[in-house]
Amino acid sequence: MKARKLLMIPGPIEFEPEVLQAMAIPTTSHVAPDFIEVFGHSLELMRTVWKSPKGQPFIIAGTGTLAMDMAAANLIESGDNVLVISSGYFGQRFKDILERYGAKVTLLQAALGQSVSIDSIENELKTKQYKALTLTHVDTSTGIIVDPKPIAQLAKKYKVLSIVDGVCSIAGEELNQDEWGLDVVLTASQKAIGVPPGLALLMASEKAMEVWKNRKTPVPNYYADWGNWLPVMKAYEERKPSYFGTPAVNLIVALETSLKIICKEGIEKRVQRHQSLAKAFRAAITSLKLTILATSNTIAANTLTAVYYPEGIDGAAFSAKMVANNVIIAGGLLPDIKTTYFRVGHMGSVSPNDLLAVLGALERTLSELGYPLEIGKSLQTFQTELLKGSN
Ligand code: PMP
Repeated sequence: MKARKLLMIPGPIEFEPEVLQAMAIPTTSHVAPDFIEVFGHSLELMRTVWKSPKGQPFIIAGTGTLAMDMAAANLIESGDNVLVISSGYFGQRFKDILERYGAKVTLLQAALGQSVSIDSIENELKTKQYKALTLTHVDTSTGIIVDPKPIAQLAKKYKVLSIVDGVCSIAGEELNQDEWGLDVVLTASQKAIGVPPGLALLMASEKAMEVWKNRKTPVPNYYADWGNWLPVMKAYEERKPSYFGTPAVNLIVALETSLKIICKEGIEKRVQRHQSLAKAFRAAITSLKLTILATSNTIAANTLTAVYYPEGIDGAAFSAKMVANNVIIAGGLLPDIKTTYFRVGHMGSVSPNDLLAVLGALERTLSELGYPLEIGKSLQTFQTELLKGSN
């Protein structure tokens, strides 16, 4: 029997074979002409994926947390007010990072399974002058999506910088950085971007770059300082050699490969694929009488789904049986309710067949653990929903 397990956690994900092959090339010099071309092209392709022709892209060795750290270190000065809009675990992380740089943070935390209302954001913005607000586009701990567009409009109205943690959304969910007026949109390589972990990716608007240039105090973080990286990004885009810290050469070759695949599919089509698969997957999950953590479809992410275990099902036994059934899913992440739910990632190159495999394994696992269900029900629901979408 094929021993290969399907990796269906919300990052790292299953990667395209071409991307993995790109990782395996003999490593070249970071200033070799062919690598300069690859780096420069990757920066250009980021503008297409982020829909930000005017943005300044950064590709830095590190994880998504570094991208968050970079946004905070470069834009925030001690004493600045920052509003953190949170629908899970990663809002709290942004708060912690911002406070390291002396920000006075107000955290607007959504109730479990919900997102923060636009009204409560506006009410908070009226109370004092904020320097910036942050939002988590998709919170990976809850599977909740937040629409950045109306929040960006509020940010503009109240003259506040808007920073989007798009780690679990970019290249999977709809986003239009320039048109919506978002100042920083950041992500990491290992999710819908489709490249093994190790790259922090960030796009800064002209306004964000101005705010950084006009800082009164130096950036209190050496590695994250845009002053060190901006000349490097500019040089690669002009196809010139440059150096600050050695780029992750193979990861960047893989990034170019993946960004080309994304652009070839087309961003609109890719987003639609994520939407239709997620919708069908949620319908399938619900058909098994399982409960999704997001309390309504309108705030359910299209890159992952978080699902409560049914009564009496033990999480550890469930995960072990799923692995035995050749599918790797993730456990819960929100500290208080960690043991009560699981998460399935469905982003990047995810196909209907991947999700059919997940549902098949899920039905067998639940059935083996004594949960009463009609075998085949979720697969049938999934297929029917998908076919409805394609008609
Ligand atoms: N934000 C979100 C929404 C995430 O999902 C993650 C990773 N799961 C991070 C930030 C942090 O990224 P990393 O683990 O790459 O540091």
